Parts: sequence; structure tokens; C-alpha cells
Amino acid sequence: MPRLIFEHHSDALRTRRSCVLERLPGDHFTATEPIWIEVVGLSISEPVVWDGFLFALLLRLMQVGTKVRIDGAISRQALRNAIELQDVWSLWCPDRYRRVALEPASVVDVCPDSGKPIICAFSGGVDGMFSLLRHGLGSLGEASLRVRSALMVHGFDVPLSQTRSFDLLVRRCGPLFSQIGIPLHVARTNLRSSSRQHWGHSFGAQLAGCLHQFGSVFSGGIIGSSEPYDDQFFPWGSNPITDRLLSGDDFDIFHDGAGFSRTSKLECLKDDETVLRTLKVCWAGPHPEENCGICEKCVRTRLNLLAVGVSNPPCFSGTFTLDMIGKICISHPLHYNELLSIFNYSCRHGIKAQWLDVLGARLARYRRNIRIRRFGAGLRRCVEETNSIRRVRRWLKRKFQGLHPST
Ligand SMILES: [Zn+2]
Repeated sequence: MPRLIFEHHSDALRTRRSCVLERLPGDHFTATEPIWIEVVGLSISEPVVWDGFLFALLLRLMQVGTKVRIDGAISRQALRNAIELQDVWSLWCPDRYRRVALEPASVVDVCPDSGKPIICAFSGGVDGMFSLLRHGLGSLGEASLRVRSALMVHGFDVPLSQTRSFDLLVRRCGPLFSQIGIPLHVARTNLRSSSRQHWGHSFGAQLAGCLHQFGSVFSGGIIGSSEPYDDQFFPWGSNPITDRLLSGDDFDIFHDGAGFSRTSKLECLKDDETVLRTLKVCWAGPHPEENCGICEKCVRTRLNLLAVGVSNPPCFSGTFTLDMIGKICISHPLHYNELLSIFNYSCRHGIKAQWLDVLGARLARYRRNIRIRRFGAGLRRCVEETNSIRRVRRWLKRKFQGLHPST
């Protein structure tokens, strides 16, 4: 039976915790190399429970698909949630993930300390920025979560090898944190590069795993929502269903901001010059500390901002041109949903502009290409399955009459 083994080390400069998924004789899977999370500049005592690593590696364990022994204590709530998460992922992706029996060394009840503050995940992007300011500045009054710190992770958007870029990114965010009077903590981890997990499925759990490392100082962590409640996409690694299940007894994970689209979030942020200067949304450009200005995410963010009346935000250096919209690469249905959301938001707000016409044309071209691709796939399937010209002709006739059941 594979085992998860943990280690903790802390000194004045850092706290480093690691975990190994040990492969024993007879186990049929590829073990991970040691997975570590390092909290920079903080000496934190050894954790009472190892909930964070369990969540961060749960999808890896579900790929192993057998019993797993956990050589450490897990909180009762985390164990319940890990079972529920397995139910979710085994239904979403049955070919990839199977339920596993978790056997912790001990299951403990930990009393939550509601007096402790909250830490907010932050990468420089729109979602974390929105949640940080919404709660950090108390916009919800008594309902605001008591955010007293933010966490930026090195090893996710910025590869571990790019130390200088990460330092520059932290420096870029400095004025914002000075303005709001909240400190920024940094963690480093090889989770993304070494845990052999699908990033699109596991990024929320990996981020939660890093937030959990602060469990003795904070009572919970915020993950800013990716998609709004009325436009959810599954399976996806961060959403209102699974993020809340990444909580343990004494450390809650809050999925925040799903009542807002990305454009609506920027509507709330657009008047703060420091925010507009700090925003860093790009992960495709050559310099991870800045926005390349031309990739899908950068162009989409420029469109989000145009929709709320910001035409030349200082977070982008190059000039925006209309042909960027025509060339935008829509490689995932989520990108299409996001662009359509910008288009619909702008139409609802009565915007009349050339960029909106070009965006409408780009979306129509995407839909047309998808229809052509589906038609081609259907025709290929029909030819392969029937091997009869007469039947293919009948299929084509039905298709063009719009009577085929798959249309
Ligand atoms: Zn970019």
C-alpha cells in the first residue's frame, strides 16, 4: 500500500514542509519526487494536521487509485471533505480519477479559533485583487472576512527557476500593499512542476494546500473565483463546489467573488490607479513579472477594461490595436465563454464601439469553425461506421435539412 510521509523543518528564515508518496514493492504507479512547500521569512510550528498536503495531492492519489496510508494526523472535517471531493472528481472524470481509501495514522478533532484573521491568495490578477480589496478594505462591512495578509506563490505562474522575475513581480505589487497596509507573504513550492497532476484540474487544490501551511496563524484562506455563478464550467480546478471542500477543521477555504463576472470585478477596481498599474494577468509572455500585452489573456483583459471605460491601462505597455481581437487565439471553451461575457456585458451597457463589432465578428467566426469541425467529425464517424455511400448520402441529406438528431 502506498504511503504519504511528511517532514517539517523551520528556522528563523523559513518553514519548509515536505511530503513523499512512497511506492512500495508491488505498487503499480510512478512515485512523485519529494513535494515541498516553503513559507519564506516565517518560522511556523509543526502542524497538528497535514490537511493541506492531502488536498494538494488528492488528485494524484486518485490516479494511483488504491488504498493510501497517510503517516500523519488529518482533521475529521478534512477527511470528510476529501471523500466528498473524490465523489465529485470521480463523476466529472471517471477515466482519469478513481476513489481511493484514505487511511490516516490518526483522525483528530481540532477546535477552530475564529479569532484568527484570514489570508487571501494573490497572484496580481483580477480575481485575487478583487477579493483582497473587497475584504481587506471591509467593503462588505460586518460581513467582510478579516483579511490581514496575502499570499503569493512562487512555482505556479512563475516557474521556480525564474527567481529574478518572481522578485520583480513582488516588487511590482509593493505599492499596492503599502497603500492598503496589508503585508504580502511568499511561499515557494514544487507542487506544480513535480506532483504529476493536471494543472487545470488541480490548481485550486494546490493553492489551498499552500494556504493551509499558515493554519497556525490564520483561520482560513480566500481563493478568488474564476467563473461567475451563472457561467460555471466543469471540470475545472477552482469553483464554488470543490473549493469549499478544501477546508479542514481549523482552516477554511473561502471561494469568493462568484457573484461577479471578470468585467464586473474590474468595474469595481477601475478607479484605483495603483490597482491598474499593478494588475498582472499574463502567464504566456517571456517576462513573468509583466504583461506581454498580446496573448489571449492580455487581450481579453484589455477588452474587460474597455468594457468598463478604461482604454489605456498602465499595466500594459504596448498599444492596443483592433487586429489583436481578430487574431485572439480561442483554444478553450472557457476563453470563448469569457469573451462572450464581455460582449454581452458591453451590449447590456449600451456600448457602441468598433472594438465591440470586431469582437462580435471574432466570436461568430469561432462558432462557425466549431460547427464545421463538428460536421467533419460527424461525417468521418458516419463513413467509418456505415461504410456505405448510400447511408452517408442519407446522413448528409438529413444534416442539411437540419433533421439529424445531433444537429
Ligand atoms: Zn500576455
